[in-house]
Amino acid sequence: MIYVEGKKVVVLGAQRSGLAAARLLAFLGADVIISENNPDLETPDLVEKLKTWGVNYEFGEHSDQLFDANFAVISPGIPTRAKIADQLRWNNVPVVSEIEVAFWFSETPTIAITGSNGKTTTTELAADILKKSGLDAIACGNNGFPFCEATYQSIQEDRHPIYVVETSSFQLENIQLFAPHTAVLLNLSPNHLDRYRNFEEYIRAKINLFNNLSRDRCAVLNIDDPNIAKYVNVKAQVIPVTMKKHPDRIASFENGYFNFKIKNVPYQIEESKILLPGFHNKYNIMSAFSAIASFLDSSAGVTESLTTFKGIPHRLEYVDTKNTILFYNDSKSTTVDSVIVAIKSFDKPVHLILGGRDKGIPFRPLNDHLDRIKTIYTIGEASDIITFEVDFDKIIPCKTLDKAVQKAYESAEPGDIVLFSPGCASFDQYENFEQRGEHFVNIVKNLK
Ligand code: ADP
Repeated sequence: MIYVEGKKVVVLGAQRSGLAAARLLAFLGADVIISENNPDLETPDLVEKLKTWGVNYEFGEHSDQLFDANFAVISPGIPTRAKIADQLRWNNVPVVSEIEVAFWFSETPTIAITGSNGKTTTTELAADILKKSGLDAIACGNNGFPFCEATYQSIQEDRHPIYVVETSSFQLENIQLFAPHTAVLLNLSPNHLDRYRNFEEYIRAKINLFNNLSRDRCAVLNIDDPNIAKYVNVKAQVIPVTMKKHPDRIASFENGYFNFKIKNVPYQIEESKILLPGFHNKYNIMSAFSAIASFLDSSAGVTESLTTFKGIPHRLEYVDTKNTILFYNDSKSTTVDSVIVAIKSFDKPVHLILGGRDKGIPFRPLNDHLDRIKTIYTIGEASDIITFEVDFDKIIPCKTLDKAVQKAYESAEPGDIVLFSPGCASFDQYENFEQRGEHFVNIVKNLK
């Protein structure tokens, strides 16, 4: 526990994480100022809230009054090397991340989950298994519910939950004492290269997660991932996640069955009973289980969770079956890599709806997976570039999602799959990927 009462604290950024940190710190007696350089965020509603919480504020500038603070909290959206963050450090003001602050005040076990893909799914699944096993658990962090907010609510409600914290590389850049009881690394592939100078720098941020873990803590590592095998070296006790035989693994998948060990007692569940589709989700399931197994006494909650957990909206989400045609929404897929993961999740070829705003990522890798595709229906700005780069004679330009879904429905045969995995940003026609996914779901629901 760190004492913050009477300490002067700067919070940089007045969005979700910054607000949650400011509120928690003010509640614990700190003298908090939130400093946000975007003047447009200063709305009457927000100002009212800050006043109620007892948080001082400045919008549109970072003033000199920040430099005599005891410490500063930086929101994940602000680069670590932003000018104001460096100025604070030059003035001997330590800069920490929002998850660091939450960790100081969360007195119960914390499980932190990171990786390039699958964080939200694994975090929510791990928390769901814990809850279905009768334990108090909260999924929080990068999933949109800040760890500080979860901590604040727990203090208010006198709850002592297990926190399952989705952590991004941005949040891990400025940790100091953050040492979860179990840390999970799902996979490592190039990501956010607009913020990091190179892949190594991105990896360094990710593996910060293990820096403070001593031998009595656990690291759940996907050792089948070549980058994890190459770059990650931890002091903590390793629980390996792998499809290959390994004496220390406590979750495996073989011949259509998941095998788990709870307190050394083996337990099996058939793949066909589990709703999460795809090979990648097998890793997510094994990782989630490995992270929480030590809290379990029996398998009942695991069965209940795995047979009911459908995944997170917009991530390869099953939507509906219309006239025996199955529809899946993968609107969160904004890279060609995630399109490939999605099409590989099905054991038969799919009708693929693809497109949106081009992010400059080549579509050519799709050419190696065309045997998995029956027809491509393109939408949005990227239509031309897709047609140019993908060497396939069954591409139908549709412009809009309405038209693409209708066309796919008309040409699909009984038992076929229609997959919306756009592989592009949504901003050409939608505000965000959630709005785009909801539109897809509505179109499917209204199909005659
Ligand atoms: P994150 O929170 O890391 O962005 P999500 O669970 O939201 O991960 O999934 C984002 C996208 O990545 C989805 O399209 C999903 O199908 C895909 N995905 C999920 N898990 C994995 C995995 N283990 N490996 C590769 N891709 C994955």
